[in-house]
Amino acid sequence: MAKERGRNTYAFYTGEIADGLQERLAMETGLRRALERDELLLYYQPQFNAATQRLTGVEALLRWRHPEQGLIPPNRFIPLAEESDLIDALGGWVLRRACAQARAWLDAGLAPVRIAINVSGHQILHQQLVEELEAALHSNGLSAGDAAIEVEITESVLQGVEHSGKVLQRLRDIGIRVAVDDFGTGYSSLSVLKQMPIDTLKIDRLFVRNIPDDTDAKAIVSAVISMAHTLGLRVVAEGVETSAQLGFLREEGCDEVQGYLLGFPELPEQIALLLRAQGAAAVLPAGPA
Ligand code: C2E
Ligand code: MG
Ligand code: MG
Ligand code: MG
Repeated sequence: MAKERGRNTYAFYTGEIADGLQERLAMETGLRRALERDELLLYYQPQFNAATQRLTGVEALLRWRHPEQGLIPPNRFIPLAEESDLIDALGGWVLRRACAQARAWLDAGLAPVRIAINVSGHQILHQQLVEELEAALHSNGLSAGDAAIEVEITESVLQGVEHSGKVLQRLRDIGIRVAVDDFGTGYSSLSVLKQMPIDTLKIDRLFVRNIPDDTDAKAIVSAVISMAHTLGLRVVAEGVETSAQLGFLREEGCDEVQGYLLGFPELPEQIALLLRAQGAAAVLPAGPA
């Protein structure tokens, strides 16, 4: 009896593992095909000056337009790509696509706009990031001046101070800015932040979400903003969804905001409209309240 149940349990688990494995294999094959068949695309979410609500830049966010499953968000395939060698191909595609987009917006007569690109720790580790970015800028006839590129890394990248520091410094040497994404969810020490060649801290949505009801969240956000300013860093708050959050962030001197309150991730045509509207008006009309 016990033996039988044991065997069944075993069968159950192997079945589950096999299913999971199969799903991952299918996903991996699908992703390789997605690259070949041009099923990937970038959305762009606007970032605004917190005080003036002028558009300051956009963040490129990857999507996979799956032939059967529709639009798949990055959290469902990036982690898998990071476990295989696929992240390098995917990351390379993102860099080239974003630079091509910068070129297209310029060609449409729009003012240069900063583009933030999410970069996986693996891309920093595997080294070719700097060369790939240089090549992508060059092949689109862009200088660092007309394409203000910002690379977003996570705090975990800062752990490898020696190696990461060198790569980030090389990025800055070619005019690319560096932002630390999801700040507050990792374990960066002050000394590491001070030591690393970075320009921007992005406060994680987790903290912004609990403003203004949660006094702890408010204290953390204020502390991060003043600490960042002390270190000479620009602060962007992520996931701003309410005008109360925006109000608090503005009062605390947060430099920029990004979130559904002011703009969703959009296709390039929508961003072009936004850029055009901004070119016409000195100040953007306030976003939806
Ligand atoms: P992230 O870099 O922190 O990007 C912000 C995420 O928050 C995006 O999700 C965005 O759509 C979402 N978001 C923006 N405003 C709000 C808001 O007001 N409320 C809420 N609830 N969410 C908001 P998305 O596009 O699903 O991306 C998820 C994550 O996937 C990104 O987090 C980033 O870590 C990763 N990712 C996206 N594109 C790429 C890429 O090209 N390469 C790499 N390596 N990772 C990427
Ligand atoms: Mg990001
Ligand atoms: Mg983030
Ligand atoms: Mg994130």
